[in-house]
Amino acid sequence: MNSIILDSLLRLVFPPRCYVCNKEINELPGEDRLLNRYFCPECWQALIINPWKGCPFCGAYRTEGRSSSRYCVHCRGEKFAFDQVVTLGMFDGLLKDAIYLIKKPECQSLARALAESLYRMRLKGSSALDVEWITPVPMNKYRFQERGVNDAETIAKTLSDFSGIKYVNALKRHAATELQRKLTPRQRRDNVRGAFEWRWWVETDKPPKSVMIVDDVLTTGATCNEIAKMMKSIGVERVTVAVIARAVGDSAA
Ligand SMILES: [Zn+2]
Ligand SMILES: [Zn+2]
Repeated sequence: MNSIILDSLLRLVFPPRCYVCNKEINELPGEDRLLNRYFCPECWQALIINPWKGCPFCGAYRTEGRSSSRYCVHCRGEKFAFDQVVTLGMFDGLLKDAIYLIKKPECQSLARALAESLYRMRLKGSSALDVEWITPVPMNKYRFQERGVNDAETIAKTLSDFSGIKYVNALKRHAATELQRKLTPRQRRDNVRGAFEWRWWVETDKPPKSVMIVDDVLTTGATCNEIAKMMKSIGVERVTVAVIARAVGDSAA
């Protein structure tokens, strides 16, 4: 049976509930009918900014009306090793709350819904998807044991399912490099230096020419920058980044 018909039938019997506020969703407003089975109209409005004017280099929302610079105020003067960033939105308001939720094992369906939104609203048709592999930003094994889930893996697998691009867990993260939140931008860069390793013992083939790295939030860009630098040192030519949210300034706390 066609999945849209099946969806309509199921909806008659079990009205869907919003993945964020748990309210029953009876109406189907909004632009993408397929996504509105996850979010009520209010949450949809608060989560998905449309139209979105993201900076292609760092993913931040461009507030400058007309700027002659290719870079936005948040990435001017930065030299990132990755080539492009695509984000669903800013790390603020309801999307910020949602990001804290998707770090929990029981909230992985919300992680998948946000990843599907990222795919449908921002990535589909974007050059960020001209890559051979999709790879999540890894957690070190102690952190993973404590958390029980790496939401970056859930997001990356969902993006792989929708795009048809191969999912490969290609990276290992060394211990004691994770707690970036309380550090200054410079300390963040120092903290992740040398923190990532290509898992040659699993992926014995040559690294591909292009990879998309996936995470939940991009803040200073230090983590993705370090991964991109390492990838480029072993022969990857193009590294793109996809995240659910971009944190800048005050929202980055
Ligand atoms: Zn809601
Ligand atoms: Zn920028």
